[in-house]
Amino acid sequence: MGYRAVRVQTGIPGLASTYGVSGDKMFYEPADAALPSENVWSTPAYLNHVPTVFERVRAEFGPGLALLHDVHHRLTPIEAARLGRSLEPYALTWMEDPVPAELQEGFRLIRQHTTTPIAVGEVFNSIWDCQQLITEQLIDYVRTTVVHAGGISHLRRIFDLAALYHVRSGSHGATDLSPVCMAAALHVDLSIPNFGLQEYMRHTPATDAVFPHSYRFADGYLHPGEEPGLGVDIDEDLAAQYPYRPAQLPVNRLVDGTVHNW
Ligand SMILES: [Mg+2]
Repeated sequence: MGYRAVRVQTGIPGLASTYGVSGDKMFYEPADAALPSENVWSTPAYLNHVPTVFERVRAEFGPGLALLHDVHHRLTPIEAARLGRSLEPYALTWMEDPVPAELQEGFRLIRQHTTTPIAVGEVFNSIWDCQQLITEQLIDYVRTTVVHAGGISHLRRIFDLAALYHVRSGSHGATDLSPVCMAAALHVDLSIPNFGLQEYMRHTPATDAVFPHSYRFADGYLHPGEEPGLGVDIDEDLAAQYPYRPAQLPVNRLVDGTVHNW
C-alpha cells in the first residue's frame, strides 16, 4: 500500500493474546468490549521473542523500510535497555513507550545503554509532562497530539521546545482520535521544522463518512488537502445514526494473574 514506515507488533508464543495485533488486516481497535477483556503478559517471553521477529522482518524487507515498535509501557528501564540493545542490529526508527513515563528521569537509564531511538508521549497533556525528557535529550520523538495536549497552540509550544533539543514530532494517531484531530495534527506537522513521523491508523468507512475530510493517504504520505481551514467537517445527521456504544480497553495481567500495565 506504499507505507514507508511500519510499526511491527506481534503475538508472543505461549500467550493467548496481546496488544497491537488485529484480527483484521486494515483496521485495529483495541477497545473491543463493553466490559474489559483480558490480555496476558510475560516480560521474559516478550524480551526473548521480539528480536527474532525484527531479524525476520529486516531479512524479508531489507534496510530501506522504517521499522517501529510499541512496547506499551510494559517494561522497567533496565528491561527496556536490554530490549533496545537487542534491537540495535535492526536499526529501528523508534522504540515507543518503553516504560511508564511519569518518572521522566528513569529514561536516563535506558539512554545510557542503547542507541535505539525512543518515542514517548501519546498520553501527555502538557509541556511539563515532557519538559525533562526533552531538555535532557532522553527521547528522540515526542508523541503528543492536538486534542490531548492543549490544542494546536500548546502542541506547537511543545514541538518548538523539542526542536531546540533535536527531538522530532511523532504525533499519536490512533483510531480513537477523530479525523478532526488528524486534520489538525497534519497542519501542525506541516508548520514545524522538526517534523518526524505522523502515526496513521485508518478509520473505518463509517467514521470517514461521519467526518468528511480532504486529507488523504497516497504513496506513503498524508496530504492535508486544499480546502480552507482544517478541511474536515462533521455530518451530525449521520452521526446520530450511531448511538454511543461503550467500549473499554482490555485489562492486562501477568501469567500469575497480577494486574500489569496495559
Ligand atoms: Mg503507543
